[in-house]
Amino acid sequence: MDLQLQGARVIVTAGAGGIGRAIVDAFLAEGAQVTTCDIDQAALDSLPKTVKAQRVDVSDHAALAAFIDQAADRMGGIDCLVNNAGIAGPTGRIEDLDVTEIERCLSVCLTSQFITTGRAVPHLRASANPSIVNISSLAGRLGFRLRSPYAAAKWGVIGLTKSMAAELGPDRIRVNAVLPGLVAGDRQRRVLEARAASRGIAFEQAETEAFSYTSIRDYVTPQQIADQILFLASPRGRTISGQAISVCGDTGMLG
Ligand code: NAD
Repeated sequence: MDLQLQGARVIVTAGAGGIGRAIVDAFLAEGAQVTTCDIDQAALDSLPKTVKAQRVDVSDHAALAAFIDQAADRMGGIDCLVNNAGIAGPTGRIEDLDVTEIERCLSVCLTSQFITTGRAVPHLRASANPSIVNISSLAGRLGFRLRSPYAAAKWGVIGLTKSMAAELGPDRIRVNAVLPGLVAGDRQRRVLEARAASRGIAFEQAETEAFSYTSIRDYVTPQQIADQILFLASPRGRTISGQAISVCGDTGMLG
């Protein structure tokens, strides 16, 4: 299927590693122009030279706004914004959480999406196929025991997505959220190790319990998540807006 993304002007936040890097590579493979930012300079240096890349901490909202402006100037506009940046945030019971860590989690995962979206919208209005894809999480639908700041931020991403889809619909700007679940990789292993340790259970039990929230009973790969994002960004996805789409076979049920 031709996704008709040749020459599309795309911004991906936190695109130098993890899922963001898979999204960047997937858009490049379709012939899109990609601009990204990340906090990790060494990872930014490893990106292909065709990617315009800049070191930005997305919790620095002034720097993030300037990054969007500069990206739009360099590419001559914006067709797609992928709000991918997110951190796991603090783990712990509500009474033990540190407010600075709560606020950093909300800032990176949620407030950054308000900043980028507000800044990108004037440019998206001028696009023939404008769209925004916000990365939420299965935690944004189910909640996450001992990771309430992260779950709250990711629920917030879904609320922002649905509100923006309604607000920007008259401008033909489509806004969707993608909800990764259990993603293969180091981050997921660390999360499951922490969960197993906090409950005194084996890693395998924590993994089996986590799988019980999904119908596919398996990890998903960053590439599979990127595939979904490409379709939503493509003119082929023109009929889809305001959706929160799980990419792990989430049934909304336990077991
Ligand atoms: P990751 O931890 O692998 O990090 C990806 C990139 O984000 C890295 O290159 C890192 O340097 C960059 N980054 C971190 N903090 C940043 C900041 N403040 N400013 C700019 N860049 C920053 O993350 P990931 O696993 O690829 O997750 C990507 C998105 O998917 C996040 O929004 C995350 O919440 C979401 N998600 C991930 C999983 C998972 O299991 N990996 C599951 C559900 C949702």
